[in-house]
Amino acid sequence: MHINFIDLKAQYLTIKDEIDQAIRAVIEKSAFAAGPFVKSFEEKFAERHQAEYCVGVNSGTAALHIAMWALGFGPGDEVIVPANTFFATAEAVSLCGSTPVFVDCEPFYFNINPQKIEEAITSKTRAIIPVHLYGQSAQMDEIQSIAAKHRLVIIEDCAQAHLTEYKGKKVGSFGSCGCFSFYPGKNLGAYGEGGAVLTNDESFYKKMMALRDHGSAQKYYHDYIGHNYRMEGMQGAVLEVKLKYLEEWTMKRRQNADLYRKYLRGIKQVEVPQEMPDGRHVYHLFVVKVGRRDELINYLKEEGIAAGIHYPVPCHLQKAYAHLPLRTPLVISEKLAHDILSLPMYAELSEEEIRYVCEKIKTFYQSN
Ligand SMILES: *Cc1c(COP(=O)(O)O)cnc(C)c1O
Repeated sequence: MHINFIDLKAQYLTIKDEIDQAIRAVIEKSAFAAGPFVKSFEEKFAERHQAEYCVGVNSGTAALHIAMWALGFGPGDEVIVPANTFFATAEAVSLCGSTPVFVDCEPFYFNINPQKIEEAITSKTRAIIPVHLYGQSAQMDEIQSIAAKHRLVIIEDCAQAHLTEYKGKKVGSFGSCGCFSFYPGKNLGAYGEGGAVLTNDESFYKKMMALRDHGSAQKYYHDYIGHNYRMEGMQGAVLEVKLKYLEEWTMKRRQNADLYRKYLRGIKQVEVPQEMPDGRHVYHLFVVKVGRRDELINYLKEEGIAAGIHYPVPCHLQKAYAHLPLRTPLVISEKLAHDILSLPMYAELSEEEIRYVCEKIKTFYQSN
């Protein structure tokens, strides 16, 4: 059996007619750059996440960058980010000329550890970017109270957290804004690149709308230096079709997580992910902690199973950040990078395939 890490083709085949029609409509209307298809998607995406406004952009990195840019972050400002995240979280801080300050994650859910945030705060700290990593919310109550105490802005990195919930509420508006990615492999993926920022603040929204389009609200009149961060019309149309199925796909991911738990039970070398009692995990990734990780990943590959590592190198150990001094120890993030393994996870994965993956894992530990 061959099992992909993710299968975008299988998903496409379930909604092919609608997608083909949506793409054709964009071509018929020649609405390629931003325009009506993007606007329609923005409205629906905001509504789905219980937010007022949505700015569609052309990547998750652009979403993070435009949010911090609109907030006026610049050189000398410090922004707290988890060490265990995709590089873009920190990169967006650096794109504003500001300095990312890395904080360790907690050992159970792998998100930023609220208890370690305060030691990293100085008079220069302006913001915290909690990442809802792997699809599970960060501990927002604790983060909100630290932010209030130190007057810090919260920017949520929701790139892996479409329809994730914390205490019954969708993520994306616990802080000033929520930044999403529609990279093809994300839970809601475009047919190309895409991203969005959600916010409830009208003036912040208007500023971001201008920045994504060369600092202009009216064509050829430029109030600021901006960029071209517009979402493509085609992506808006595709995403609007896919958004209708997102809840169904999310339920399937959650069911698949339960099946993994069932079939991995009893393998003592494997620790399955834990769910926070007051959140809703959407399983962008199913990340287990395992013994002899590198040997296992090679074994699975030989057996036709594609597994991944998210992420093999924490941000502070990347060459690009070698110049930054560490403010606090990041031991859990470093240890995790060594032990974690992401198993195949997508809505179309069958029970038979999940059982096969788990049986191979069992065999590996029994025979080695
Ligand atoms: C994917 C991702 C991003 C960046 O999104 P792109 O659309 O690839 O630019 C940022 N943060 C996290 C946590 C991500 O997973």
